[in-house]
Amino acid sequence: MLLLDERRKVVDYAQKMLSTGLVKGTGGNISLTNEDKSLVAITPSGVAYETMRPEDVVVLDLDGNHVDGDLLPSSELGFHLALLRQRMEIKAVVHTHSDYSTALACLRWELPAVHYLIGSAGFKVPLAPYATFGTPELAEGICETIGDGNAVLLANHGLVAVGVSLSKAFSTAEMVEYVAKLYLITRSVGSPVVLNRGEMQDVLEKFTTYGVQPGKSKN
Ligand code: 13P
Ligand code: ZN
Repeated sequence: MLLLDERRKVVDYAQKMLSTGLVKGTGGNISLTNEDKSLVAITPSGVAYETMRPEDVVVLDLDGNHVDGDLLPSSELGFHLALLRQRMEIKAVVHTHSDYSTALACLRWELPAVHYLIGSAGFKVPLAPYATFGTPELAEGICETIGDGNAVLLANHGLVAVGVSLSKAFSTAEMVEYVAKLYLITRSVGSPVVLNRGEMQDVLEKFTTYGVQPGKSKN
């Protein structure tokens, strides 16, 4: 099967996205490119994650031409492809409807650096303007808002995280959800202190070597 390894990973992480509570039902979607970034494997639209199989994952080229798979691709194919085309280092896109990130997005708030773990997304997580799901307007807003960061909140909708690998994009989605939770908890009882740019710069610097064990690559 074409892109079997990538399709298996997409299913594994889609099921993890459901089991870790980052989505409910068939919400959210995941894409992963092959090594040379000529093809992308993306979750099918509206299919239950519990029973999803690698052959259900749709394979397309980066222009959106269908290559393999019998099902329709995610309705958010547009923003997945737009992000993959916009930044060459991006190999995976994870879209969630996770509770705290989405709550912030419903308030139309950005997520500031209230905890250093936001560093996996950047200095903060910005907010993309509201647009109907699955539209070119939503893709445009996401691409204009994300900048050099690895995550963006979608007004009244959810979160998108990107990464150089699927494990990185997924872990960024988890970290953003954790920091969004801390932000809402602290905002509900007081005024959280936001880390300044210099403090976050130090964190980002340390993240470049964090988790690198002797003789092993980072992922
Ligand atoms: P799909 O099932 O088409 O991927 O849509 C889910 C979603 O989250 C839309 O924003
Ligand atoms: Zn969605």
